[in-house]
Amino acid sequence: MANVNVDWENLGFGYQPITKRYVANYKDGKWGKGELTEDATVVLNECAGILQYCQEVFEGLKAYKTKDGRVVTFRPDMNAKRMIDSAKRLEMPPVSEEMFMEAVDQVVAANKDWIPPYETGGALYLRPYLFATGPVIGVKPSDEYQFRLFGTPVGSYFKNGVKPITICVSDYDRAAPHGTGNIKAGLNYAMSLYPYILAHENGYDENMYLDAATRTYVEETGGANFLFVTKDNKIVTPKSDSILPSITRRSLVTLAEKLGYTVEHRPVKFTELKDFAEAGLCGTAAVICPVGKVVNHGEEICFPSGMEKMGPVLTKLYDELRGIQIGTIEAPEGWIREIK
Ligand SMILES: *Cc1c(COP(=O)(O)O)cnc(C)c1O
Repeated sequence: MANVNVDWENLGFGYQPITKRYVANYKDGKWGKGELTEDATVVLNECAGILQYCQEVFEGLKAYKTKDGRVVTFRPDMNAKRMIDSAKRLEMPPVSEEMFMEAVDQVVAANKDWIPPYETGGALYLRPYLFATGPVIGVKPSDEYQFRLFGTPVGSYFKNGVKPITICVSDYDRAAPHGTGNIKAGLNYAMSLYPYILAHENGYDENMYLDAATRTYVEETGGANFLFVTKDNKIVTPKSDSILPSITRRSLVTLAEKLGYTVEHRPVKFTELKDFAEAGLCGTAAVICPVGKVVNHGEEICFPSGMEKMGPVLTKLYDELRGIQIGTIEAPEGWIREIK
């Protein structure tokens, strides 16, 4: 399967079908045996639950080539657990952690040639997802589901250098209190597209969402959690039941504490932002993407770290996590799963 035709240096973040993906079906109250297939298409009944009432949850993680040539994934067990939580909230039969890990291992092992070389800073992005295939017209959970996991090679997020972004406070809400903001479901993204396009049209890179009930606390963006650094070098991350629990954010917090930083996970008022020294977004895509400026209807909050580079504390955390993923820094127990 050698010699895949990819321009590694110019790889962005787009879908590129690769050789094998994993598929398993749920029917008659149980999951069947999963297997690899070369078929990238899904054929569905016109009344499938996913098409009518949007029963779908997903995950996102990456497989990396390390500096010494190994192939690894980063904390896939955390993605497996989060997908179980997501599935339960949408009344879907969860995929066991074992099946999830088997899917990750098999897809990565079968597509090793599609993993970008270490030097490019790229990765094989893995997309596990679970959706309702059985027909439903009266509102109820479907009886049949499919779990798939495909991969697509992606380039380095910082191909053109690390550039702090500018974000705007959205007038729209991402998640209601007691809603579905804390699960990884496609439905949360469908309704974020309108404000996302609007932010882009207005010249911003991303939206900052506030808490829907009072619009006074910072939540997250459409697809990444916030990390702030105070002027006395404390790390602050917003706490809310409607924020998606980012694995990157939780990992960075663990590393920050190991490095001796004080970390506060607590509600963060929007009015506090002007007091922070650094701000960043965290998620699988970038690990940390620095935020230089937040704009709220003409009011500008410019972080002292500026618009040219990532601040010093976030850089330290970034280097630590990135080093663990590419194998140059020793990982905490269980964080790295090598795939032979
Ligand atoms: C996936 C996601 C994140 C980032 O989570 P990671 O596990 O760090 O990739 C943050 N916010 C939302 C809304 C997400 O869907």
